[in-house]
Amino acid sequence: MKLPIFLDNHSTTPMDPRVLETMLPYFVEKFGNAASRNHAFGWAAEEAVESARKQIAKLIKADPKEIVFTSGATESDNLAIKGVVEMYKEKGDHIITSSTEHRAVLDTVKVLEGKGKATATYLPVDKFGMVRPEDVRNAITEKTILISVMLANNEIGTINPVKEIGKIAKEKGILFHCDATQGVGKIPVDVQDMGIDLMSFTSHKMYGPKGVGALYVRKKNPRVRITAQMDGGGHERGMRSGTLPVPLIVGFGKACELCEQEMAKDAARLIAMRDRLEASIMKALEESYLNGHPTNRLPGNLNISFAYVEGESLLMGMKDIALSSGSACTSATLEPSYVLRALGVGTELAHSSIRFGLGRFNTDDEIDYTIKKVIEIVTKLREMSPLYEMAKEGVDLKSVQWAAH
Ligand SMILES: *Cc1c(COP(=O)(O)O)cnc(C)c1O
Repeated sequence: MKLPIFLDNHSTTPMDPRVLETMLPYFVEKFGNAASRNHAFGWAAEEAVESARKQIAKLIKADPKEIVFTSGATESDNLAIKGVVEMYKEKGDHIITSSTEHRAVLDTVKVLEGKGKATATYLPVDKFGMVRPEDVRNAITEKTILISVMLANNEIGTINPVKEIGKIAKEKGILFHCDATQGVGKIPVDVQDMGIDLMSFTSHKMYGPKGVGALYVRKKNPRVRITAQMDGGGHERGMRSGTLPVPLIVGFGKACELCEQEMAKDAARLIAMRDRLEASIMKALEESYLNGHPTNRLPGNLNISFAYVEGESLLMGMKDIALSSGSACTSATLEPSYVLRALGVGTELAHSSIRFGLGRFNTDDEIDYTIKKVIEIVTKLREMSPLYEMAKEGVDLKSVQWAAH
């Protein structure tokens, strides 16, 4: 086993070596521009792009013509939301989204609100982090043009009832965008069955290269139109200009093919490792609380709050394991995760949370090491905590009058 251990697979994933292998010829030998229509270099590049487009479309049960290449999910979210708001402005300006979306969605909607181009409803989630389909239905107004709800959350892994939301959207004739970045390649995704009209996802969260992603744009029932956010050569059926990064696209295609072939096997392995990690930690450490849904979540996700311990201190104590805490460093202050706050997790417990993100290349040995280390460091930090000591002595911390400082 090699240190450090990477257990932060929701932030990015290592590239699969099989992906790299398929990309290599496209850097030097087959370097053509896929838009060059009049020579063999261009044709070879175009053929590679179209074959990748097929692999990607197949994974999500779409038509290859419905795939628009972007630089990643952030761009896909921007293109979907801004593109719809601009295209359908005569129809209305209201967006329904949820409070636990990724920043790429929330910030985009906020900017449109700030410019007076859109109004928005941010739906709450239940204690497991799920959007309630009935809330979506009740939020719809005459002016609603877009519903944007994510498939699986990047912090807690909770999977939303996307199919039910898609049904409501269809019934009301409103477009449905889904940020499926964490779900594609990990759990089955079918844009037909789920009633999705626009869907964002990215290569680097599914063992492909960084810098390439896609936006699925439905072509029929209904034919979705979006306003391009970049002007130029009119690539990607006019929706996203710019020379295509052929090697990245080839890698993205291969990554999708591998995910399709190995999804069931990967998921079963990850669930077994994740459940063992969860059970061992929970058994050894009292006052550890699972954040998110106990079962309806991504195979590789585990998010736990350890009472009386700061997540950041915990990370500092285990520098040989790459993890993420529920505190976001915004300028000088540590803000507790807005996702955990939306579930109703208190500030203290939100600051005490750690996200474990397991992926294809993690091993049982790494999980053993992590279990041992987490138990050791949490125990050590609690031994140094006056609050923990008081709680152990039976002092009701809520009744304590704290001196102001
Ligand atoms: C990582 C992530 C993004 C951003 O993807 P990039 O390709 O890095 O821009 C957007 N949404 C979710 C849910 C993510 O997890």
